Amino acid sequence: MAIIRDYDVVIVGAGPAGMTAALYAGRAMLRTVVLEAGLSGGELLRTEYLDDVIGFPMIKGDDLAQRFEEHAKKFGATFVNFTNVSSVQKVDELTFATETDSGDVYMSPVVIVTSGGTPIKLGIPGELDFAGRGVSYCAICDANFFKKHTIAVVGGGDAACEESDYLTRFADKVYLIHRRHEFRASKVVQKHVFANPKIEVVFNTVAEEVIGKPGGLMTGLRLKNVLTGDRSVLDVTGLFVFIGFKPNTDIIKAHYTHDALGYVVTDGAMMSSIPGLFVAGDLRSQLTRQVTTASGDATTAAIAADKYLKDLREAGGSTDKDVEEAVQTSHLNLGGWT
Ligand SMILES: Cc1cc2nc3c(=O)[nH]c(=O)nc-3n(C[C@H](O)[C@H](O)[C@H](O)COP(=O)(O)OP(=O)(O)OC[C@H]3O[C@@H](n4cnc5c(N)ncnc54)[C@H](O)[C@@H]3O)c2cc1C
Repeated sequence: MAIIRDYDVVIVGAGPAGMTAALYAGRAMLRTVVLEAGLSGGELLRTEYLDDVIGFPMIKGDDLAQRFEEHAKKFGATFVNFTNVSSVQKVDELTFATETDSGDVYMSPVVIVTSGGTPIKLGIPGELDFAGRGVSYCAICDANFFKKHTIAVVGGGDAACEESDYLTRFADKVYLIHRRHEFRASKVVQKHVFANPKIEVVFNTVAEEVIGKPGGLMTGLRLKNVLTGDRSVLDVTGLFVFIGFKPNTDIIKAHYTHDALGYVVTDGAMMSSIPGLFVAGDLRSQLTRQVTTASGDATTAAIAADKYLKDLREAGGSTDKDVEEAVQTSHLNLGGWT
């Protein structure tokens, strides 16, 4: 266990957001460390191919992750992989303590949290084996791979209904499977679903198994009717699962402003309601969650963090009251909370 005071900026997570923040913070000559629970890449490591990252018409997820990491490291950020952060706490006006599972504590004036989120899984046999081989958790990301296919969607909320509608722009047919006899989605969203001739709604039914050849693509989905117990197999080449997404915010041990789903609300400079705590990427409250939006958030967060630190430095050597004022002024200059 060690107390580490070597860094201006601590970044939690090395997904697209964390690595972009590392690039910009390093480029601004800030002493930067990235603490990552696993390998660098985040959700990119679980994505077979991407065709919507500008400049890369088609690229494998792990290739893109490697490019991001090499580029971020070029500007001097230190990466500490296989290091899970257990908590981020503000210990005084100027300092955050970021603690890892090994007991090391990084003390820094700025933390950028980019810990992403986790799509909730069905937990059925074959789901993980065919992830990226038919099973997906992101319609915008993967719809393009299912042009003219027959596919299934599981879920009953707004996301499942809206994304089913969206997927019919690509797929010939979408089975929308829901375990209850009615959707949770808002009435207006449901109206679009029921009016769409390419969507067939299958109520009172759960997905039991994703079927396909080991190492190949998925070829079907085993279903069970929860009322009759009858089982059947749908011939589908895709399964989109929309049963929820959990932002990884548990590590932030403070009262921050969040939206109804638990995503962190930030100002335009990506600062949370806690001065000095910036947030970027999938765990931020926003319309969409993509590689490019995560990188965009992180660009802003790192540049704003640099400005925040400059304001603090200019108040350096002065009284606690001056520092407190600098924190508040910087926060307001960045378009922060009033
Ligand atoms: C299956 C799938 C396919 C997708 N396809 C596309 C696509 O084609 N195009 C596209 O633009 N977007 C796609 N996305 C969305 C895109 O991957 C995400 O929007 C993007 O990865 C978000 O980046 P992020 O850095 O915010 O979070 P993440 O990528 O989730 O990275 C977060 C990182 O933080 C780390 N972390 C979490 N908690 C801790 C902790 N306590 N301590 C240390 N480290 C921690 C994680 O290990 C992870 O590496 C896809 C997503 C999924 C799930």
